[in-house]
Amino acid sequence: MTEKSNSENKERVGVYVCHCGTNISKVVDVEEVARWAGEQPNVEVARDYKFMCSSLGQELIEQDIKEKGLTRVVCASCSPHMHEKTFRTACERAGLNPFLFEMTNIREHDSWITDDKVAATAKAKSLVRGSIDRVIHHEPLEQIPVEINPNTLVVGGGIAGITSALELADAGYHVYLVEREPSIGGHMAQLDKTFPTLDCSACILTPKMVDVAQHDNITLLTWSEVEKVDGYLGNFSVTVRKKARYVNEEHCTGCGICIEKCPFKEVDEVFEAGMGTRKVIYRPFPQAVPKYPVIDKENCVYFKTGKCKACEKFCPTEPNSIEFDQEDEILQIDVGNIILATGYDLFDSKRIPQYGYGKLDNVFTGLEFERMVNAAGPTDGKIVLRDKESTPKSVGIVHCVGSRDENYHKYCSKVCCMYSLKFAHLVHERIPDAEIYDFYIDMRTPGKGYEEFYNRLLEEGTHFIRGKVAEVTDAARIPEEEGKLIIQVEDTLIGKQRRIPVDMVILSSAMEARAGSKEVSQLFKMGCDFDGFFTERHPKLDPVATMTDGILIAGACQGPKDVPESVSQGAAAAARVAGLISRGTVMMEPVRASIDQEACSGCKICNNMCPFNAIIFHEDRKVSEVITALCQGCGTCVAACPSGVITGAHFTNDQLFAQIEGVLWDMSAEKASA
Ligand code: FAD
Ligand code: SF4
Ligand code: SF4
Ligand code: SF4
Repeated sequence: MTEKSNSENKERVGVYVCHCGTNISKVVDVEEVARWAGEQPNVEVARDYKFMCSSLGQELIEQDIKEKGLTRVVCASCSPHMHEKTFRTACERAGLNPFLFEMTNIREHDSWITDDKVAATAKAKSLVRGSIDRVIHHEPLEQIPVEINPNTLVVGGGIAGITSALELADAGYHVYLVEREPSIGGHMAQLDKTFPTLDCSACILTPKMVDVAQHDNITLLTWSEVEKVDGYLGNFSVTVRKKARYVNEEHCTGCGICIEKCPFKEVDEVFEAGMGTRKVIYRPFPQAVPKYPVIDKENCVYFKTGKCKACEKFCPTEPNSIEFDQEDEILQIDVGNIILATGYDLFDSKRIPQYGYGKLDNVFTGLEFERMVNAAGPTDGKIVLRDKESTPKSVGIVHCVGSRDENYHKYCSKVCCMYSLKFAHLVHERIPDAEIYDFYIDMRTPGKGYEEFYNRLLEEGTHFIRGKVAEVTDAARIPEEEGKLIIQVEDTLIGKQRRIPVDMVILSSAMEARAGSKEVSQLFKMGCDFDGFFTERHPKLDPVATMTDGILIAGACQGPKDVPESVSQGAAAAARVAGLISRGTVMMEPVRASIDQEACSGCKICNNMCPFNAIIFHEDRKVSEVITALCQGCGTCVAACPSGVITGAHFTNDQLFAQIEGVLWDMSAEKASA
């Protein structure tokens, strides 16, 4: 610790250098940085401490503010994302305006990126000096109170979105649930049974879907998509396109006669994972919510030729529910918070040609198998080959298809070991004499009751073969292999290459980010990770928040997840939103731009640059003005203004130049004098 008499200085700065256990101190000489900081201009006291964020560390700061009359505080520790709020609050508790604090990251930006102790210590000094010089220029700022609109938008009606919507609606808050398909349900509606308890998926999902449709606090907008999002936490304005169904939802009773009478059944059924066809007017599945059908305009003969109208002719309602002249509706929705629960896509197994999907008839994807074993599916629940008649006597299940593979996705999809085990069990159950081979690299079963499920499968007699499948072919070598699929694999437990002939292969394909997730993340002004999944604010401490206040994420849109995890996240996001709504008002960072009205030349360059539409132009006075409540402090306009008359509070030129000069003030001066 260094203390000095500093009566000649205008400001009295306290500098606190954190060891972060050994995260920082094993590379940076923190004692030396603190000693050196104590000698810098304006510094009243400088200390190092094991954990500055601990209550004892925070008390040190508070005590110094009170006893030594500190007017500014600098903390050199971890990322501001982690603890800026912690230290600001400590300053506030001691009576110092929290914006007279500055944080320097000497962990992620220093000790974690080098082993060179001398260089790391020198860099820490540079960063600390930059912060000392910057904080001198800080101004006290006041947070801005923002009222929270109590309505919430949930985007995506899979199990995660359904959970969020119901939790909020049950708490008494209104929810708009926007789903782009004709029905809610998501992937869970396609599953037959769910591991590890083997509950019937529809039986546990359908009551929730019905609750959504019947809930007074939920406005359900299916066959709809978000087109535009304006605003900020508490006050978002969202434009939604409700696509034309060509069926009047107020008159339709959902009787299904139109579907029955439609003469055209040629369209691949997406819900059946391509295993069946549907009519042109359709309901994606029998338990769909809402129950109203939708006309597939692209394939409708009336829309193509002007003839048919069978559905209209047979619709028994008065007035008739078929409306060929219906148009898309554009809806404007005002909400305070948005929860994104847009889920995942299944990896396209055709991308791995050596596994034969799309070329070899009896290679199936996991979702195809789910539909096949479902009693309401395309084969009425019978496990059969592509000819829909022959029962397989041997089945191979291939793990990690598109996952844990440098060429596709490096990550583990987390659920496919478990759903592969589920498939093996279902084959055993329906075809007891079938031989089942399960090809895995590592068996991943972390979850309540999951390992026990694996043990059950071991007892059922599945042959587990450890090794990555090299290829699936139909290249029979001996008469007994005729008509079979040959799985080529290196069995790593016995160290041998094996050829295993089977009748059916099921590929346990990866869960991947939705196609278009990047565009969706841009629409909602938040981030996507390298794999396309939405980025959470903090992977451990804040997994459902994003870097954009008021936008939350839940379920598989954040990364591969099973149903229990998706439900937990859906509920967690709802709880977060409910907490904000119940407060009524939140305090927003006062980091905002402002335009010097006297000096603005009226060039309007900033007007179209602002990503939050926060700048208006006064035609009468020919000047631009920032609407403080809309501004998010991104700084785009500050950089764009050719007259340099836009100031970003807490990021003023004075502050930034002082910091740059401080950082560049450089050890060379010290070295030269040494
Ligand atoms: P989804 O189910 O993908 O739902 C997302 C919803 O958002 C969809 O309705 C979609 O149409 C909608 N949407 C997407 N984009 C938009 C947009 N831009 N605007 C509006 N709406 C949009 N898990 C288990 O726990 N047990 C199992 O037995 C099991 N078996 C599985 C078997 C297979 C073959 C697979 C592939 C997965 C299995 N899973 C299982 C995992 C399970 O499917 C997921 O955990 C779950 O579906 C994730 O729910 P979700 O709501 O996050 O996403
Ligand atoms: Fe029945 Fe008419 Fe509705 Fe079709 S559109 S489901 S025929 S009420
Ligand atoms: Fe492979 Fe299992 Fe991970 Fe899926 S969960 S990627 S099958 S290790
Ligand atoms: Fe818009 Fe400027 Fe505020 Fe950014 S800083 S949100 S560009 S007004």
